[in-house]
Amino acid sequence: MFDVLIIGGGVSGVSCALVLGSAKNKPFATDKKIGIITHQKASSLQNAVFNNAYGIPPGKLGSDLLTESVEHLQKLYPHVEQINGEKVLKIQGEVGDYTLITNKNTFKTKIIAIGIGSSSPFMIEGLESFIEPHQKAAPEKNRIQLKNHDHLVKEGVYVMGTLAGQRSQLAIAAGSGASVATDILSLWNEGKPVQVHDALGK
Ligand SMILES: Cc1cc2nc3c(=O)[nH]c(=O)nc-3n(C[C@H](O)[C@H](O)[C@H](O)COP(=O)(O)OP(=O)(O)OC[C@H]3O[C@@H](n4cnc5c(N)ncnc54)[C@H](O)[C@@H]3O)c2cc1C
Repeated sequence: MFDVLIIGGGVSGVSCALVLGSAKNKPFATDKKIGIITHQKASSLQNAVFNNAYGIPPGKLGSDLLTESVEHLQKLYPHVEQINGEKVLKIQGEVGDYTLITNKNTFKTKIIAIGIGSSSPFMIEGLESFIEPHQKAAPEKNRIQLKNHDHLVKEGVYVMGTLAGQRSQLAIAAGSGASVATDILSLWNEGKPVQVHDALGK
């Protein structure tokens, strides 16, 4: 049983995983089992080139970020389990006991965080009732989002990145994933607000 399973190894998903992973020494997070399913074929990053994203060197290829970001996650936070090359097909259950069915396996998790991009149609069975047209994308692009309140779709299910209705910019998607991570950490910390910072001189 995972405590949280992230679906999507793109910008929002890996950003969420990095912040969750970085909390490993916090007493409320140290025993938590965290996983990320990193099926990469459908990522927006495959064809992107970044010149305008904070902290990213100009000319950076999205296809390089796809591999480097999960290497970064593995190197610094190896306790975050990476499940590579699986596509989530179905979600069922309720908070504390969700089941994720992929093309290869079945996983159990208490919390789900979804960052699979805003392409239509939505390919995961079980959340159809939350799908709506994307509120911040041009209508002719036919993008979708999941209805949510500050990333929360329903108890135990968070959405992030463009699928949360955010505009398609790397910095926004990364911030959205980090926001979901700190919400989950705050939940684990009995509702007390959490941020995770490393600093020199401490
Ligand atoms: C061609 C192009 C150029 C761009 N250029 C810029 C730019 O210059 N500057 C900028 O700021 N932004 C740019 N962007 C936008 C930026 O890449 C996106 O806003 C960002 O990647 C969105 O993050 P996300 O997490 O929502 O989705 P993604 O990064 O697309 O991540 C979604 C992940 O979910 C995975 N996935 C999908 N379905 C499933 C499933 N069923 N099960 C498991 N995993 C699944 C995908 O494979 C992918 O890894 C560009 C986008 C494109 C397409």
